[in-house]
Amino acid sequence: MPELPENEAQRRLVDRECLHRTIEAVELGDDVTYIALPGDNERARLVGRQFTETRRHGKNIFLGSKTGPWMAVHLGMTGRLIPFDAPEDPPTKTKLLVRFEGDRRLAFRCPRKLGKVRIIDDPDTFIAEQKLGPDALTITKRQFADAVGSSRSAIKAALLDQGKLAGVGNLWSDEVLFQTGLAPTDTAANLDEACLETLLKRLKAILEAVIDTDATYSKLRDDWLIRHRKKGATCRRCGGKIDSAKVGGRTAYFCTSHQS
Ligand SMILES: [Zn+2]
Repeated sequence: MPELPENEAQRRLVDRECLHRTIEAVELGDDVTYIALPGDNERARLVGRQFTETRRHGKNIFLGSKTGPWMAVHLGMTGRLIPFDAPEDPPTKTKLLVRFEGDRRLAFRCPRKLGKVRIIDDPDTFIAEQKLGPDALTITKRQFADAVGSSRSAIKAALLDQGKLAGVGNLWSDEVLFQTGLAPTDTAANLDEACLETLLKRLKAILEAVIDTDATYSKLRDDWLIRHRKKGATCRRCGGKIDSAKVGGRTAYFCTSHQS
């Protein structure tokens, strides 16, 4: 599932390709049953307007303007925003298509239909209504200690809780625990302040590094977990073995030697 860095790479792409163009139509694609897309009246609110800015909070991307409305996109498992130019055809499995004046188009492709597009008045109200915690890139030490550090859950589960910290999912929670040597099952509330500070610093460094590669994992360092994230693989840090286990309802990957 796309997490913060994948969403940020997408936000940067649409920011480069889709701003300051008048919207002529917002159309539904094929096979749009069982996917959360805006209705006719909602889509019509965008017609005649331009997106002049983008934002991202956690795993949500927003395209809009000072006075709104905004298009809020959640990519779900397999969603993708794809700018292209007519007469090229939209990608297969396009569920929503924004037609700008001239040739530019923006497709929302979503094969597994778990993504969502909504038309909203403003991102801040939306973030509050969704009860999202601070974004993982901008959360402060204090906020992190209060939200994540006070949890009685496993640290892996606390990092995944979007109400505490928005943007981290299965991949990057595993990565930061691997890089800081914490076991996914360690109780968050048992970590001391210095440990929480190190964890947050490393988390931000990881997210920034992934964003810098445009979320191209093959460009990340070979000693990262993501490069060898499978059961039985050899840990590039200590020579131990990578194993997996269910933690907080998700499959966590970790090194059985240096993460215990
Ligand atoms: Zn190891």
